[in-house]
Amino acid sequence: MDYDFIQRKVYDLIFTFIDSIPIDPFSIVSYFDSIFICSYKEYSEYYNISEDDVIRKFNSNEGFLLKCKDTSTNTNYYIMGYNQNKSKERIRFTIAHELGHFILKHNDRTSKNILNRYSLSDQETQHFETEANHFAKHLLIPFPIALYFKKHLNRFTAEIISNIFNVNFEPANYVFLNLNKLGDYSKKYFDSNIEQIILKKFNKSIAKILYKNRCLFCGHIFYVKDPKFCPICGKTLLLRESIDDIFPYFINYEDDNMIYSKIEINENHKAVKCPKCENEHIVEGDYCQICGMHTVNRCTFCHELLDGDARYCHECGAESTFYINRILTNYEGYNYLGKDDAPF
Ligand SMILES: [Zn+2]
Ligand SMILES: [Zn+2]
Ligand SMILES: [Zn+2]
Ligand SMILES: [Zn+2]
Repeated sequence: MDYDFIQRKVYDLIFTFIDSIPIDPFSIVSYFDSIFICSYKEYSEYYNISEDDVIRKFNSNEGFLLKCKDTSTNTNYYIMGYNQNKSKERIRFTIAHELGHFILKHNDRTSKNILNRYSLSDQETQHFETEANHFAKHLLIPFPIALYFKKHLNRFTAEIISNIFNVNFEPANYVFLNLNKLGDYSKKYFDSNIEQIILKKFNKSIAKILYKNRCLFCGHIFYVKDPKFCPICGKTLLLRESIDDIFPYFINYEDDNMIYSKIEINENHKAVKCPKCENEHIVEGDYCQICGMHTVNRCTFCHELLDGDARYCHECGAESTFYINRILTNYEGYNYLGKDDAPF
């Protein structure tokens, strides 16, 4: 099996479609017009058969990829099925696995129309199964990102990988053991371009896991390395919440609060449109060329680059450029307005 080829295919996909963890295989599948995805339940309802019939028909309890031909246009399309009664982690792995069959064009390399998970039999099928599993592991747990966590966390175990990437213990442990074996070869994953690009793309998502802080005064959750002040209320009552500080720690990807107004910024810390006149042609430098407003949120004292919702600098506590220009409201004022709008 050409592992490097498979890995390359995986990174191409991630590079093109995804910028956050946990990797969402459903969203990748949705980009391919020729794949129709359905649960066993939906399939059974459509054909008016039982779910057990679906399992028997495709000879798999987990999922399948069925190649079909549209005779009117003479083009191929695919039906991807998954058993919705399995755990979330297992379903994610199944979708990634079936996507592997699709991307690696296994259906075209065999006379069979159906590729099903764990059906096995002859050598050919087993070979495809191994390749699809390899594909799924690397897609759900991209090595460069896992390696980055290994370097930046004090504790790094298979359980932690499983928690971060939303996968079962088995694939997590596979990656854990392989990363340990990698040793000095891990340089390889950082030297080549694509790995650097992937890390840059996932920057925000990685920071969410490594540098999570909660303000005990206003409740704001934000992701900055070693902050001294809350960017919303400017207070210093901060609690670090990371895998290194709390054990056992379970990442809650939903634990994000959006209660404060914010200006959307891009990866270069620039507003995507002018926060005052809404001009969308943002030029070099810190200011809008139409109205002269700040398009970059910076600390007015130490000039640190700040998030789009920061009223205060997390380093020195001074006010931000967006805040002193009244682009961002005072957090108490915001709460007050919020209460006024409440329907009771
Ligand atoms: Zn398979
Ligand atoms: Zn606060
Ligand atoms: Zn402007
Ligand atoms: Zn500052």
